[in-house]
Amino acid sequence: MFNRNRHLNNCPVHPGPVLYWMNRDQRAADNWALLTAQQEAIHSGQPLLVVFCLQEAFLGARPEHFSFMLEGLLETARTLSDLNISFIVRRGHPSCELLAVAEKVHAGLIVTDFSPLRLPRQWRKELAVAAQEAGLAVWETDAHNIIPCWLVSDKLEFAARTIRPKIQRQLPAWLTDLPVLARHPINLSQELLHDVSAQTGRSVIQQALADLEHQTAPDGRRQMLPPSGPAAAKLRLSHFIADSLKDFDRRNDPNLPVSSRLSPYLHFGQVSAQRVALSVHAAAQTNPELAPPAASFLEELIVRRELADNYCFYHPDYDNWQGFPAWARQTLERHRTDPRTYRYRDEQLENGQTHDPLWNTAQLELRDTGQMPGYLRMYWAKKLLEWCATPEQAQQFAIALNDGLAIDGRDPNGYVGIAWSIGGVHDRPWGERPVFGTIRTLTYDGCRRKFSVDAYIRKESDRRDG
Ligand SMILES: Cc1cc2nc3c(=O)[nH]c(=O)nc-3n(C[C@H](O)[C@H](O)[C@H](O)COP(=O)(O)OP(=O)(O)OC[C@H]3O[C@@H](n4cnc5c(N)ncnc54)[C@H](O)[C@@H]3O)c2cc1C
Repeated sequence: MFNRNRHLNNCPVHPGPVLYWMNRDQRAADNWALLTAQQEAIHSGQPLLVVFCLQEAFLGARPEHFSFMLEGLLETARTLSDLNISFIVRRGHPSCELLAVAEKVHAGLIVTDFSPLRLPRQWRKELAVAAQEAGLAVWETDAHNIIPCWLVSDKLEFAARTIRPKIQRQLPAWLTDLPVLARHPINLSQELLHDVSAQTGRSVIQQALADLEHQTAPDGRRQMLPPSGPAAAKLRLSHFIADSLKDFDRRNDPNLPVSSRLSPYLHFGQVSAQRVALSVHAAAQTNPELAPPAASFLEELIVRRELADNYCFYHPDYDNWQGFPAWARQTLERHRTDPRTYRYRDEQLENGQTHDPLWNTAQLELRDTGQMPGYLRMYWAKKLLEWCATPEQAQQFAIALNDGLAIDGRDPNGYVGIAWSIGGVHDRPWGERPVFGTIRTLTYDGCRRKFSVDAYIRKESDRRDG
């Protein structure tokens, strides 16, 4: 049916329940990793158990981001239960928890989803090694990308123009409709289930949500986030297609709400990029006027997003200076000691207290809502390069703010967006300027030419005034 798997160790599959470790892709529907696990379980007449490992902290995420994730998981737990698929949540280190569960239920195979980021990859590696010793097979299925990351290209891609033809060539084979997750025909015994988790997955999540209620964000503020979960993602997608896809080519104007705002749902795997692409494709086929904006949208959703995964997968330094291309490091090195006209303390930046009203407004929108319009994200990061003492500080500070404040942060798209803005990743040299060298600049006046800066500032000021 599909071939999106990699074997993470050399063990054969044994008879026994199949365990799906849900990590990056937190949904029941349209999830290739879960479909793979179910296919293997049905094929060998075995039960299927989904395990989620809950961490206390993850790359600076705020309590609200954990709540967003948990609310989505609660819905996923309900859907799984309706399909007779057991779901448990364990707190602790993934490899230890998963092996303990696998041992108790005598699992024959563990399937997991894919992430190109360092920490999740480390977890998978530890699991594969420990499982090898226990004689247990571990498979990884890329449920996030439309073309599995290791197949779309076997090397680090230089830019969108180098990965695009590879995607275009392979896409017809991969952008197919997704099978429906079946009601699972074989139960895991209640006794075994109780042995691996005294509480149901849902009650662990409800407890974790209640605990988070009492936690405050590091700055004492709670962000106003969009509704969470696969159903909310589906609704967002249908509103986007019905109301704003036609105007998607005007998305660089932050006064127009025409971008999809799907990134939080894509980040937490509450919606599949493949489902989004199929839906947008279908809309463009029924209405030819939608074809040009749909093509622009699919360029972002597929080419840019899969390019970001490619960069993080093949470049171990995706979040530091060593990840910048040689030309960018050389030009930034030459301009390292250029005087900075403005310098700010971290708190001034975090609280949007610079001389630049556009930057301040974008930063406050991020701080309060966990979101910032895409075009302003580039401006925001480039200004940090201009105002920080070194490019390294600018990159690290941008990552800390983005990971800590953005609901869709801690994502390959974020590391790459920042590396593009500050370190020329996937870009080319432009005209020479102070501080930036030949890294592309983005100026306040440039923004004024693209959209009404005053209208954006006014709109956000009205939001803050409530
Ligand atoms: C400094 C900086 C930081 C960023 N941080 C993040 C982040 O933390 N998380 C994140 O998901 N994106 C990030 N991006 C990429 C992009 O800005 C967001 O994906 C986009 O603004 C999300 O809004 P949307 O869902 O309405 O996107 P749309 O414009 O509707 O696009 C649809 C989807 O395509 C993908 N996409 C769009 N633009 C890009 C891009 N440039 N690169 C890769 N994928 C893209 C996203 O998954 C997005 O949800 C960052 C960009 C920059 C310049």
